[in-house]
Amino acid sequence: MSFTETAEQTALRAAVAQLGASYGYDYMVDKARSGGDMAELYAEAGKLGYLGVNLPEAYGGGGQGMYELAIVEEEFGAAGCGLLMMVVSPAICGTVITKFGTEDQMGRWLPGLADGSEIMAFAITEPDAGSNSHRITTTARRDGDDWVLSGRKIYISGMDVANNVLVVARTEDATTGSLKPVLLVVPTDSPGLEYTKIDMDIISADNQFVVYLDDVRLPADALVGSEDAAIDQLFAGLNPERIMAAAFAVGMSRHALGKATAYAKERVVWRDRPIGSHQGVAHPLAQSHIEVELAKLMMQKAATLYDQGDHMAAGEAANMAKYAAGEAGVRAVDQAVQTLGGNGLASESGLGALIAASRVMRIAPVSREMILNFIAQFSLGLPKSY
Ligand SMILES: Cc1cc2nc3c(=O)[nH]c(=O)nc-3n(C[C@H](O)[C@H](O)[C@H](O)COP(=O)(O)OP(=O)(O)OC[C@H]3O[C@@H](n4cnc5c(N)ncnc54)[C@H](O)[C@@H]3O)c2cc1C
Repeated sequence: MSFTETAEQTALRAAVAQLGASYGYDYMVDKARSGGDMAELYAEAGKLGYLGVNLPEAYGGGGQGMYELAIVEEEFGAAGCGLLMMVVSPAICGTVITKFGTEDQMGRWLPGLADGSEIMAFAITEPDAGSNSHRITTTARRDGDDWVLSGRKIYISGMDVANNVLVVARTEDATTGSLKPVLLVVPTDSPGLEYTKIDMDIISADNQFVVYLDDVRLPADALVGSEDAAIDQLFAGLNPERIMAAAFAVGMSRHALGKATAYAKERVVWRDRPIGSHQGVAHPLAQSHIEVELAKLMMQKAATLYDQGDHMAAGEAANMAKYAAGEAGVRAVDQAVQTLGGNGLASESGLGALIAASRVMRIAPVSREMILNFIAQFSLGLPKSY
């Protein structure tokens, strides 16, 4: 076990941090407030090989692992311009297609996901299912060789920038009982597919959508993996999602704490000492720093286990990392705002805007409570209450 990153990982971290700094929080917030997206950063990150660092070399990727992709996510977050679609496109969709796609499907989709020229959204959440994915009703029905897909999805990130969306549906003969999902790649311009933007009180360049699927006709090879083993295939994408959500939260936390500590070193209101010399200011920042580092350590453990192929242990660690990073992130942003006093809520600080964004880390992609349920049952063996 080594707690030292390799020379390649250190170089990747430094290079991504440098690119992130050249865009930064101001770039993200300008895009968010003007209704734009972060296409320039996404494209540049793709061209430099950062987005596809986890994908196979044979399909344009870097041949590395989830550890490296998490480095990329964390460093962009720390620079103030975390890329939400990395959680979805190369991490969830790229992983599922790499593990379960045919050679033809890998050739069709992975190079674009790796170089950023294509983005794939991911849709599992439904208005009447929410945390309980077993209740999804979006249905894929066979019609000859084709699939015909109908249903509704909600809070789907990035439909406006995505070329395709990986939809989790259920087969028609399994509308009751336990989930029997199928995974279908659906072009976002398919006839019968529509989406509308949800107004969110989050300042973010990434938008969320309701997606309507009304008899969307798809060819047989829209199906990724086996029709009968999709639950395992789905979980193969969800561990990377949780690792990446933790990386996103760790990055955002570092960004907020960086701003707060810089301010606390400069701001003087009592005699000639900066406010950071008061323990009432310094200790909560130190505590937050410890919490963020602990969450990062669990995220790195999860990514390492995942890359070593220990998916059971990686699943437990990924859930713990996502929980810890979400909680640490909410507290880090809150403490950062407090450190700047009134300035913490001025738009110029960029911290007030993170309050709602940091709350997302407690809710998505899996809520704090559902992780606690999982740990209570899986790790502690406690009975299920729901
Ligand atoms: C910014 C954002 C981006 C998102 N992007 C995507 C995306 O790209 N694709 C996608 O498919 N989804 C996406 N989501 C959806 C996200 O995954 C869900 O919001 C999340 O899983 C929670 O589901 P829900 O909102 O329906 O809450 P609900 O399931 O309605 O839960 C509401 C509350 O009840 C609690 N609760 C529910 N059941 C239990 C229980 N058994 N025990 C204890 N507490 C419980 C929850 O923890 C939560 O606090 C996104 C959401 C947000 C906010």
